[in-house]
Amino acid sequence: MEPKGHRSWAEPFKIKVVEPLHMTSRAEREQLIAEAGYNTFLLRSKDVYIDLLTDSGTAAMSDYQWAGLMLGDEAYAGSRNFYHLEAAVQKYYGYRYVVPTHQGRGAEHILSKITIKTGDYVPGNMYFTTTRLHQELAGGTFEDVVIDEAHDPESPHPFKGNVDLNKLESLIKRVGPQRIPYVSVAATVNMAGGQPISMGNLKAVRALTSGYGIRVILDAARALENAYFVQQREEGYRERPVADILKEICSYTDGCTMSAKKDALVNIGGFLALNDPDLFEEARNLVVVYEGLHTYGGLAGRDMEAIARGIEESVQDDHIRARVGQVEYLGNKLIEWGVPVVVPIGGHAVYLDARRFYPHIPQDEYPAQTLTAELYVESGVRGMERGIVSAGRDAQTGEQHYPKLELVRLAIPRRVYTQAHMDVTAESVQEVYRQREGVRGLRMTYEPRYLRFFQARFERL
Ligand SMILES: *Cc1c(COP(=O)(O)O)cnc(C)c1O
Repeated sequence: MEPKGHRSWAEPFKIKVVEPLHMTSRAEREQLIAEAGYNTFLLRSKDVYIDLLTDSGTAAMSDYQWAGLMLGDEAYAGSRNFYHLEAAVQKYYGYRYVVPTHQGRGAEHILSKITIKTGDYVPGNMYFTTTRLHQELAGGTFEDVVIDEAHDPESPHPFKGNVDLNKLESLIKRVGPQRIPYVSVAATVNMAGGQPISMGNLKAVRALTSGYGIRVILDAARALENAYFVQQREEGYRERPVADILKEICSYTDGCTMSAKKDALVNIGGFLALNDPDLFEEARNLVVVYEGLHTYGGLAGRDMEAIARGIEESVQDDHIRARVGQVEYLGNKLIEWGVPVVVPIGGHAVYLDARRFYPHIPQDEYPAQTLTAELYVESGVRGMERGIVSAGRDAQTGEQHYPKLELVRLAIPRRVYTQAHMDVTAESVQEVYRQREGVRGLRMTYEPRYLRFFQARFERL
């Protein structure tokens, strides 16, 4: 029985349109995953039952957003939807200038080109795949300055996304502030398991970098989820609306790159936001080369309208509580059943600790990649590898990175699945965990040059 006084929560929306799901048999899935080279990115979505590959661009839009699509102003220049988007970013994120881009990496590309010179260093609270690659392609070297706890899946630290100020300051002293175009601060930190940075830490990063005249650029893809964790966990924020907290986070930074496919509840889109008029001027010049005119940046007018409306919906406390609450519901079930997951549970995903699933599989035989395949075969649930395959190779030496974390991410799309889907997922993961002994690893048979995890192929050992 539930304890007295327990109150359940429910999604703050009801369902208006449904998309039927397709079930496959275990034998079919064995064949399908083999054909996909044991890479869940190469499966067809029709063959997936519950799709937890990513929370990127997979959100269900609201009726208000869909209505906004009809108001798309598809003028080449000066679309009214651009001004709605610009106003929403100014109001809720607080930056002065906005450059739309087709998605987050478009913004990363432009930012990297206008700020990074060959030989520069870009410190960050853990790498992100596309972010680091754009920094490297622009001639920079990424330096991880996240706290050590971020690399420990069992540490219960409430803000594992925090920057280690000593690591940051010693890098500044070692290479000199003029070699550091900006500090790249992610909120939340995807690769650490969706872990937040505290407001106190962000303020300290701002104070330290201001002293050296170094910019801070926010990776804002899930800054709202970060704001929710600040509200829940940090002294003094309990009574503040998440919208306020989000704006405070942004206020300690000089700009952001944004993948609107995450927090902003749309299927495509992003932006680069800046406060410095000179830097904005350069970004606005360059966006024309790579994305499109500065009032559409690779997006249709209707897409910009959906983002503007999505931003407005995303900052509601009811929305974010249910969004993160669903992720915690799944994670807490697995913790209760003794399945090894990264703690604390992150904002957008539950991360299975593949090292503790398969201690007998060496990292060179891709334990997390193996676990994604086993989970798909068991139940048709699709997750994503976030371990040695995602970490790729060193840009200079060509050696493989060996990350401490060897994880499988179960990312929860926003407003898409019900609590019953979470129950089915938890039971499937538990079954794979029960059958963990004797599972063999994989061998890579095809390795792409860039971001290999998307298209690499494997076979069973
Ligand atoms: C998704 C993501 C990006 C890149 O955004 P895209 O829209 O996929 O190009 C950058 N940073 C983080 C933390 C992300 O999750």
